[in-house]
Amino acid sequence: MHKVIIVGASGRMGRMLVRAVAESEHAKLVAATEREGSTLLGVDAGELAGVQTLGVAIHSSIPEGLDADVIIDFTTPKATLAHAKLAAQRGIQMVIGTTGLDKNELQTLSAILAASATVKASNFSVGVTLALQLIEQAAAVLEADYDAEIIEAHHRHKVDAPSGTALSMGEALATGRQVALDDVAVYSREGIVGARESGSIGFSVVRGGDIVGKHQVLFAGLGESLEIQHTATDRMTFARGALRAALWVGDQEAGLYDMRDVLGLN
Ligand code: NAD
Repeated sequence: MHKVIIVGASGRMGRMLVRAVAESEHAKLVAATEREGSTLLGVDAGELAGVQTLGVAIHSSIPEGLDADVIIDFTTPKATLAHAKLAAQRGIQMVIGTTGLDKNELQTLSAILAASATVKASNFSVGVTLALQLIEQAAAVLEADYDAEIIEAHHRHKVDAPSGTALSMGEALATGRQVALDDVAVYSREGIVGARESGSIGFSVVRGGDIVGKHQVLFAGLGESLEIQHTATDRMTFARGALRAALWVGDQEAGLYDMRDVLGLN
């Protein structure tokens, strides 16, 4: 039985993660946390998630000396770095879904977790993981003559843009074309921007309502276009994927893994 800690347990994803753990025969929730000052401290994590009472009250920190295997973290970049420090000190593995970490934060995170086995993915759904593979393949075949655009849509509360998944799709595209994403990415267009530069990878962002997550990669050529599209309709898909990663990472050697590793696609 894997002993799991969910941080950010009252968040949109946190509640789904608590539910996924409660529904699993292979995992047990041993702690749940929220940020200091949250009005939900002390509430049972299972009740809040709409499953049965789990006897795990939400605290503002992970109890000292707690016996745990893995922390699942879908919070904020700052909180994730703090959780990573603690996980490394206590020898607990991590599954990280938080997006929006900048380059410095990503470097710091890798350094902190250098001696641990960690799974980090911008999207834990099986469909998106497979889409990344298909995008890389398509980009290798459809050369720069096919203009590549990534269009993503998310709910009105999302704070980072483009989404972590859109950036992963951009990385997959760049890998397929053997270029560096930083050299070819176009993140915004406004005014007289001139004709499209061949080989660029464009990003477009939509925010609104309760859209769980929609990603489309468009390869627009002359006389034809190809679209690879993924639509998430229920956040449980991310939570189940993250739990699958949490069960998998227990047997791995130190290293930073992604969902492609978990699914055996790498
Ligand atoms: P949310 O704002 O609903 O939840 C985040 C929670 O973290 C909040 O409840 C917040 O109070 C809590 N938190 C902040 N600081 C904390 C701390 N120090 N300790 C404990 N809890 C703390 O956001 P969300 O929609 O659940 O998304 C969270 C993150 O996960 C975002 O970065 C989002 O982009 C990402 N996400 C990733 C995937 C994926 O598959 N990788 C899927 C969905 C969302």
